[in-house]
Amino acid sequence: MDFELNETQQLIVKSAREYVDRALKPVAGELDRAGRFPAVELAALAELGLMGVNIPASLGGAEAGVVAYALAMMEVARGCASTAVTMAVTNMVGEVITRFGSDAQKQRYVPKLTGGEYQAGAFALSEPGAGSDPAGMATTAVRGDGGWIVNGQKQWITSGGKAGVMVLWARTDRPNERRGPKGISCFLVEQGTRGLEVGKHEDKLGLRASETVPLTFTDAWLPEDALLGNLHDGFKVAMMALDGGRIGIASQAIGIATAALEAAVSYAKERKQFGHAIADYQAIQWMIADSKTELEAARLCTLRAAQMKERAIPRFSREAAIAKLFASESAWRVCDRALQIHGGYGYVTDFPVERHLRDVRVTRIYEGTSEIQRLVIARARLG
Ligand SMILES: Cc1cc2nc3c(=O)[nH]c(=O)nc-3n(C[C@H](O)[C@H](O)[C@H](O)COP(=O)(O)OP(=O)(O)OC[C@H]3O[C@@H](n4cnc5c(N)ncnc54)[C@H](O)[C@@H]3O)c2cc1C
Repeated sequence: MDFELNETQQLIVKSAREYVDRALKPVAGELDRAGRFPAVELAALAELGLMGVNIPASLGGAEAGVVAYALAMMEVARGCASTAVTMAVTNMVGEVITRFGSDAQKQRYVPKLTGGEYQAGAFALSEPGAGSDPAGMATTAVRGDGGWIVNGQKQWITSGGKAGVMVLWARTDRPNERRGPKGISCFLVEQGTRGLEVGKHEDKLGLRASETVPLTFTDAWLPEDALLGNLHDGFKVAMMALDGGRIGIASQAIGIATAALEAAVSYAKERKQFGHAIADYQAIQWMIADSKTELEAARLCTLRAAQMKERAIPRFSREAAIAKLFASESAWRVCDRALQIHGGYGYVTDFPVERHLRDVRVTRIYEGTSEIQRLVIARARLG
């Protein structure tokens, strides 16, 4: 087992880190306060090849692999969690189209995602009544007018109003013969599709510079060739995409918590109480030690899952779930300790740790809650 990064991985980390420290981290607080979508920052990431890290160069990607993607995500999330989630979903959409799309679909959409012509991609799976149980979705796509007519609602869609293209899941089974997960198909929907209405931007606890919107489809027409992959095979596509996506969210959690720990260490060295820097007190040292230990363990779990995906080991669902569960739960504790180390100053916006705590919270919820990750892990163990 090799723990050393190869040259490509080192290069991706170096260029992501340089950009994050120079341009992204300094504006993250302002992006959060203003709730400004990070359009400029995303364009810069596209230039660095970070909007298609694990996508072939022939489609405009960096072709650097899954481990490099996880490392890049850790760096970008260390700078700005909102920018990182937008990057994560765009990479995921590009990968889904690359893996399941026809040649025409790949050529039409993927270079625009990787090259920044599209600001972002979106992944429209969740619905108001179907979150942890997406197979219970109600949105339908019915053949008509030489294409597909879509009706229904999607909820919580990251970049739903900004994305040049979104992957949409809808029921394609008959109303009187519902087939559960085997009656769902996947479609590609372009921005501006008639009948697609983008709802009000959600007022969120964290990730305030990322866009999260509900979408309503009312007799929205999609061409015949909007179908992605085989008819009724959409649920499998979603599950495979989420396995990979969970590696991205684990990495995002690690990145946010790394920023929180860095802030806590520097504050602990500066802040004096009882005549000493608080870093001299063992209570503070233990918090820092526990945080560092949890982050290292989370990083190892996450890179292991990334390596399995990179090596095309077919079943890495359990490892991706372990990584997402452990990384997001640890990252939450790390951010909470970082705030504690700041005392009252951690509770106000003069310091970044309150933002890190708000931003990291959702990593325990999206792309499968911690409870759902436990279900995946337990099912794999119990058989
Ligand atoms: C900021 C944000 C961005 C998002 N972006 C996207 C996106 O881009 N695309 C997209 O499709 N979705 C997106 N989501 C949706 C996200 O994936 C869902 O919120 C998540 O899957 C949980 O679904 P839910 O909110 O409906 O909660 P529910 O499924 O209603 O769960 C409520 C509670 O019940 C628990 N629970 C549910 N079922 C079980 C069970 N069987 N056993 C034990 N506990 C259970 C859950 O763990 C949770 O604690 C986003 C969400 C947020 C908040």
